[in-house]
Amino acid sequence: MDRVAVDDLDNSLQPAAVVRHLADPLGCEDLAINYYELAPGDSFAFAYHAHEVQEEVFVVLSGTATWVVGPEPTDPDDPIGSGDPGAPSQRREVEVGPSEAIRIPPGQFQRGWNRAEAGGERVRALALGAPRAYGEQPKRDDCPDCDTEAPVSIRRAPDDESRLITVCADCGAEVARWRRGDDGENERVR
Ligand SMILES: [Zn+2]
Repeated sequence: MDRVAVDDLDNSLQPAAVVRHLADPLGCEDLAINYYELAPGDSFAFAYHAHEVQEEVFVVLSGTATWVVGPEPTDPDDPIGSGDPGAPSQRREVEVGPSEAIRIPPGQFQRGWNRAEAGGERVRALALGAPRAYGEQPKRDDCPDCDTEAPVSIRRAPDDESRLITVCADCGAEVARWRRGDDGENERVR
């Protein structure tokens, strides 16, 4: 038996203002579990993405989160191979309010947001993923240089290792950047 106080766990540098990883402190073997707080405008994820093998459940504790979800994978035996990000017109938006939950199967592309206006309500949520390893994780975002959506990857900023960036796989442009703010919370800076 292991017990943790969520507020005692370190904040992880991610797109959400606060992300606390519970799996290691709890000694979880087959479950990923993370606590999130999203300021207005924040996302849960670095990009629109899918997991190869991990199914994921988000339980919204307070606020309202909005997920953009792609088409359902068509082959349960090959979810990532049959997963398709879908053209923007094929993507749905799903609002998930307090005490509601959403399940994302392996292979389905998704990205969750707090779409509240500045000064609006935070989203607090728990994310549960099983198994812990998610396998391949294709990611996509709008590249300002390519002027279209492109595959992206996450890395440390070469000019400042304390910051994380996403980079366009097609042209190498920096797409987005996050840092730890002076208040101890994460924030997007481009
Ligand atoms: Zn590009």
